[in-house]
Amino acid sequence: MIIHKLTQADVETAVIAAVARSLDRKPEEIELHASLQDEYGAESLDILEIVFNIEKSCRLRLPKMTLLQHAQEKFATNQFIKQGELTALGLEVLRQMRPEIDSEQFRPGLRVQDVSRLVTAQTFVRLALRLLDGKEEALEKLRSSGCTTCGSKEVLDSTTAAEFVCANCGAIYPVPSGDAILAEDLVRVQTKMDSPTSVSLAASDAP
Ligand SMILES: [Zn+2]
Repeated sequence: MIIHKLTQADVETAVIAAVARSLDRKPEEIELHASLQDEYGAESLDILEIVFNIEKSCRLRLPKMTLLQHAQEKFATNQFIKQGELTALGLEVLRQMRPEIDSEQFRPGLRVQDVSRLVTAQTFVRLALRLLDGKEEALEKLRSSGCTTCGSKEVLDSTTAAEFVCANCGAIYPVPSGDAILAEDLVRVQTKMDSPTSVSLAASDAP
């Protein structure tokens, strides 16, 4: 069985095409590491359109909630954001979750409303690659446990939508949601930070 796997280059091309289309630019004008907001004037509606087009071309479900929204759900009030600014913990979480961004950007005093300015085309490339990994993992799991309707192990990656299809009975399974994968990754980062080696981090956030 041939599985069409998107390569990093495929994903980069798809993301740049989506960004260029939404911002009314030529693909060659889009720099992977340029701030979409500062360099190209992207507004939240443009971002929604970019997300929609990446979902379509990469057959993925991107998160509906931002990283900050997820983090605020995971961490206690004031732990992540204090008086409109990211705490030391908040900065460290962003650093870990957004390795594609120059870590210099995550300086103390970074305000919540400025976090969206850090989003680049590369942010979407990395996110899409992460979600493709999650998708592959889910497909493997489904294949080893078999279709829940007919038991067939021949489950295919749909070539038209963000779903898996049982080749035998046609049952459809959605690919994992980007929100679920993002939440999982945050738990992993949080666990890593709760380990004794990061005590200094907690201390630096003390008043
Ligand atoms: Zn089936």
